[in-house]
Amino acid sequence: MLQGKTALVTGSTSGIGLGLAKALARQGANIVLNGFGDIDGARAELLAIGVQVAYHGADMGRMADIEDLMKYSAAQFGRVDILVNNAGIQHVDDVQDFPPARWDAVIAINLTSAFHTARLALPAMRSANWGRIINLASVHGLVGSAGKSAYVAAKHGLVGLTKVIALENATTGVTCNAICPGWVLTPLVQQQVDAKAAQHGLSNEQAKQQLLREKEPSMQFTTPEELGELALFLCSPAANNVRGVAWNMDGGWAAQ
Ligand code: NAD
Repeated sequence: MLQGKTALVTGSTSGIGLGLAKALARQGANIVLNGFGDIDGARAELLAIGVQVAYHGADMGRMADIEDLMKYSAAQFGRVDILVNNAGIQHVDDVQDFPPARWDAVIAINLTSAFHTARLALPAMRSANWGRIINLASVHGLVGSAGKSAYVAAKHGLVGLTKVIALENATTGVTCNAICPGWVLTPLVQQQVDAKAAQHGLSNEQAKQQLLREKEPSMQFTTPEELGELALFLCSPAANNVRGVAWNMDGGWAAQ
């Protein structure tokens, strides 16, 4: 379905981003990989699927890096057809204790980066009259949780940005939508499981169950594979007129 297309997935060396990159690659898209950590491992998994893979180590909190990433992607593959704004970080503290530098970092990486990638990807998408922008928001783009001020503000902002990009391109072949997962057991969430286990003297399994019980009625983690299938739907012709939605995959979290 995506043969000949190029997908840039930010923060794709791990977790959800890697899961989405693999789903897009299985449909034939070449991948621009970005993020830190196990770059070689992620690259090997994608190459094994049989697509071309390029890597750029942009820090998504830095505008100059993002500009370089977008130039690099165009130079490698001509243009970005599918932009997945996925890179994200978390910091948990009540507002009065929240370090201002962490606030700035969460907003820059989780929200502002999506503005920069989109503004730089849109001209080529519009001239091709085809493009998909998928923003990895969160159920925290729809509801709040104590301790997550910067993250909730960034994700609500990302849902808003999604709607505006969708509207500005509504008469074109370029769509923009957001995906809003509940708990997904990635390194980002494992840190929160570890903190809960340490705080309450729980085992890893008990801490995971408690995390789910607090928020997610299904008592199940959403998987990167399930999110990958949703991203593929948004890239398919069936989703040509899906514009500006924030689609949660959250085990009923936001239905409460
Ligand atoms: P993760 O920590 O497993 O992966 C984050 C990725 O982003 C990694 O590849 C990391 O290297 C990269 N990254 C971090 N900072 C970066 C930076 N400054 N520049 C470039 N890359 C950077 O996290 P994840 O759980 O897979 O999260 C991916 C996205 O999904 C995030 O936007 C997150 O907010 C969102 N999300 C996650 C969950 C969850 O439960 N895990 C739920 C809802 C939304």
